[in-house]
Amino acid sequence: MSELRSYAASQPRLFLNDRKSIPQIGLGVWQTPPDVAGPAVETALRAGYRHIDTAAIYRNEVGVGEGIRAAGISRENLFITTKLWNEDQGYDATLRAFDESLKRLGVDYVDLYLVHWPAPQRGLYVDTWKAFIRLHEQRLARSIGVSNFEAEHLNKIISATGVTPVLNQVELHPRFQQRKLRDVHEKLGIATQSWSPLGQGTLLSHPTINSIAEKHRRTPAQIIIRWHIDNGLVVIPKSVTPSRIVENLDVFGFGLDEADLAAIGKLNANDGRIGPNPLTANF
Ligand code: NAD
Repeated sequence: MSELRSYAASQPRLFLNDRKSIPQIGLGVWQTPPDVAGPAVETALRAGYRHIDTAAIYRNEVGVGEGIRAAGISRENLFITTKLWNEDQGYDATLRAFDESLKRLGVDYVDLYLVHWPAPQRGLYVDTWKAFIRLHEQRLARSIGVSNFEAEHLNKIISATGVTPVLNQVELHPRFQQRKLRDVHEKLGIATQSWSPLGQGTLLSHPTINSIAEKHRRTPAQIIIRWHIDNGLVVIPKSVTPSRIVENLDVFGFGLDEADLAAIGKLNANDGRIGPNPLTANF
């Protein structure tokens, strides 16, 4: 137990452009029904995680809230993210949807609220961002950011409002490393958060990852998660299996060397994207 508690204390945090900080590893809960999300969140928090990533569209905010309460960690030590679904974009609709997320989670603020997709065909993401700014001013969303935004979407909300998102959560894993977008983020002072960091599990059997794992006597998941950490990314691997939840946080007792980082760097591929392209995604 003392070892597990020490994970909570020793996890790195990244500073955001609003002077808040975020634990660099969080638990992702996509595709997790509420009755499974609750125990997974409780297990994660007891194992030392302090950061949970959910979304209204995951339809498990109620379960996430139950897991948080069951773990009994004080609210100020937790970092809870949720996201606004596309159908709720627009100024007033955003404020209503945010309120519903708070109620389902059973909390009175979130640490990070994200616009889930730009959904450019709706033409509402700038108005949506204005509502986010209001929620931030009211301290109901302690930090505000976006997800799946490309450079043009980032530039548009920043020039319209003067407010830069703290973070952009995008698909990012060894086969889809998003180098161009990461450069844009660096110039704008936006943190990069990796979704599907393990390539939805598909990268765990990759021979390069496996040989690095064998060399360090670690699991493939631990190698990939450590690669995200070493690249200064915020990483939110998903698992509902208690042993894997613990394993995915236990990534600080070893280090990747330059050869490992270079070998993983070479896995980037033109066809590496798994999920939708934000420029054309129409939902
Ligand atoms: P992931 O890359 O985290 O992979 C998850 C899968 O890998 C699991 O289903 C499990 O089968 C496997 N796995 C995890 N740990 C393992 C281990 N130690 N050993 C063996 N197998 C293991 O996939 P993901 O769920 O798509 O992404 C993570 C999180 O990112 C999501 O849960 C969600 O919170 C977020 N996300 C956000 C968006 C977005 O649009 N913003 C999109 C997708 C995902």
